[in-house]
Amino acid sequence: MKIIGIDLGTTNSAAAIWQNGQVELIPNRLKEYLTPSVVHIGQDGTVLVGKAAQERLLTHPNATASVFKRYMGTDRKLTLAKKSYSAPELSAFVLKSLKEDAENYLGEAVTEAVISVPAYFNNTQRKATILAGELAGLKVERLVNEPTAAAIAYGLHEKPEHTQFIVVDLGGGTFDVSIMEYFEGVLEVHASAGDNFLGGEDFTEILVNKFLSSLNLNKTSLNPNELQLVQAQMELAKRQLNQADLIHVEPFIKAQKQPISLYKEDFLKLSEPLWQRLQRPIETALRDAKLKPSDLDEVILVGGATRMQYFRSLIAKMFRRMPSANLDPDLVVAMGASIQAGLKARDAALEDLVLTDVCPYSLGIGIHNENDHLGTQGNLFSPIIERNTVIPCSRISAYNTITDYQTAMTLEFFQGEHRLVKNNISLGKLEVRLPKARKGEESVTVRLSYDINGVLEVDVEVVSTGEKHYKMILNTPSQITDKEIAASKEKLSALKFHPREQEVNITLLARAERLYEGRLGQEREEILNALRWFESVLEKQNNSEIAEAQTRFGEFLDQVEQDRLF
Ligand code: AMP
Repeated sequence: MKIIGIDLGTTNSAAAIWQNGQVELIPNRLKEYLTPSVVHIGQDGTVLVGKAAQERLLTHPNATASVFKRYMGTDRKLTLAKKSYSAPELSAFVLKSLKEDAENYLGEAVTEAVISVPAYFNNTQRKATILAGELAGLKVERLVNEPTAAAIAYGLHEKPEHTQFIVVDLGGGTFDVSIMEYFEGVLEVHASAGDNFLGGEDFTEILVNKFLSSLNLNKTSLNPNELQLVQAQMELAKRQLNQADLIHVEPFIKAQKQPISLYKEDFLKLSEPLWQRLQRPIETALRDAKLKPSDLDEVILVGGATRMQYFRSLIAKMFRRMPSANLDPDLVVAMGASIQAGLKARDAALEDLVLTDVCPYSLGIGIHNENDHLGTQGNLFSPIIERNTVIPCSRISAYNTITDYQTAMTLEFFQGEHRLVKNNISLGKLEVRLPKARKGEESVTVRLSYDINGVLEVDVEVVSTGEKHYKMILNTPSQITDKEIAASKEKLSALKFHPREQEVNITLLARAERLYEGRLGQEREEILNALRWFESVLEKQNNSEIAEAQTRFGEFLDQVEQDRLF
């Protein structure tokens, strides 16, 4: 019986299998190794997973879910097409899709998997992951920590005992650092640190802002589709700046009439605060593990954003050694999970120990958002206790009044990782009265204390009067019962999945619809004509004709996306 290895990621997921003494990555229905962790549920109850769903994030935001891994182990539900889904249920759709791809690739049923989880996942989050597997029809007898999986893929368990190393994982939106040691068949995480608000997307954002400011524009002057085009173009620019010192961006939105030059030097300078922030968790982890950079035998890179050339040179400078990067950083975790699965099948699985008793989520309060001109964002999240802090812990932050003669402050507490509180989980509120004063002159201190039983205590003090407020919040998500699991299974089984072979067509159609919505005039007309033509070919149900049309339609859409018609 075959056991597959799965990296169930925040942005992308991947699966692999250990076969004939080596790792084989499993291609999905679109013949790609990465499946976006995005789920779309249509009005008629049909489910789309991966790229087809990702295409709908912009056109059908209320029926499409992404980044739900952040809510694993919480009671938070997301509503899609008027029904609510938990994070394990949404993850189950992704796992089901990977399972089907594996079955198609291997030509046999797959019922068991080893799934990777972040090292900082607590017991509740781990149980939620196992439940997601169960809902997808996969037995998950074993989870593997993501840094451990990466280490195994690099063969660190075959190194001499006491090998110490660091795994640096920079994804699209999160940064995780783990310091590990291999000793007597055990891979142990000695320290882990991270920043939930730092990832490759922040570097793209720097280029987006730079590009817009050279055109004297800001984000509010563009429509959502134009903004997405700018983001996609700057994503490309970011990759090109790995090789080139200077790139020219030809006009591609209406407001741009001339090519714009982007210099690598400017990009590196503008992203200086981000480079600084990247160093902090590395220093914290080293300090916690009581190690110096030179004590480490190896540096392993995970996550797409570690492809940034400057990031690599920074890491090389910090550790005075070249990082190990010969495996694809987006696939290395799935590869390691599949090796662990292979070892498990032979009863030789590696032990995998982690630091436990860390606070699994960031905890903090909502603060005023100055940039929310349109009123769509709501308050910003100000974390007080950062995720991953060893518990019990207690942290304090101060907050000033923001208007003149403000006499009250409503403090709302949240758990989560998003910079906007509306995407985090509200835990409760506390209202505090203040003496009248000019803005900024009155302040409160907020102390949050979190203990091993998931109890959060809030102590607020008005600085000028010394008045104290106290609130206790029980922060343990409710346990899922067998009855609820059965209900989940029934709910999911009522949904329909598109036949695998149709997914290429659905992805192409969703992409064309997105492009249609974003364009006007003649270009829109051309997209519509191509869409109609493709639909007419599909109706004829001739497989070889459809295959040919897929290629032609795909190339046409590529061209639309790259063309600078303005
Ligand atoms: P992940 O979540 O691990 O898939 O990482 C995705 C992030 O990696 C995104 O922010 C991408 O912009 C970034 N990324 C992928 N390839 C490159 C590259 N060649 N150069 C710079 N950043 C990249």
